[in-house]
Amino acid sequence: MSLNSLKELRSSIQAALDEVDHLIAAHLQATDDKRDRPLVDLSHLDLETERAVSRVFVHYSYSDNPSHDNVETIRRWHLARGFSDVGYHFFVRKNGRIEKGRDLDKTPAAQKGNNTGTIAICLHGKEENYPSPEQEKSLRALCMALNFRYDGLTFHGHKEVADTSCPGSLDYKGILGLNDLGVMV
Ligand SMILES: [Zn+2]
Repeated sequence: MSLNSLKELRSSIQAALDEVDHLIAAHLQATDDKRDRPLVDLSHLDLETERAVSRVFVHYSYSDNPSHDNVETIRRWHLARGFSDVGYHFFVRKNGRIEKGRDLDKTPAAQKGNNTGTIAICLHGKEENYPSPEQEKSLRALCMALNFRYDGLTFHGHKEVADTSCPGSLDYKGILGLNDLGVMV
């Protein structure tokens, strides 16, 4: 083989490699786009507060009754218990819809003795179809948005600070990708 043909061979191999690199890059880009696409609509929620927040707590409603799958019912329960409003800031329905609860500027009434500096999220459910895939997606989206907005947030289940099963079978550590300290990693 002549030197020229070898050079030609080399350059065609290089062109093929460049093309493969290009295809790999395009593939990775497409995967990234898919991963970053917002799956959940958060546009109706106000995530801003001047309150100093450091921890987010996740709860469940401890009800399988579909008629309880809305923040208004939980608000009624909490008002009947003498609270000034529903104790949680956010309520996640089985269909993934996130409803606004207590104003984020107000301290929640959700983890007795551990309410100051926290944000409280409640998912509807107890056992059946709990959590739903839609709830997992919404919880993840909401917590990622909060994590982006506030420095140094950690995420926890109610049971970490109280003698309770709350939030039940929800694998919040896995869903949110938490380390042992509750930091999203
Ligand atoms: Zn709870």
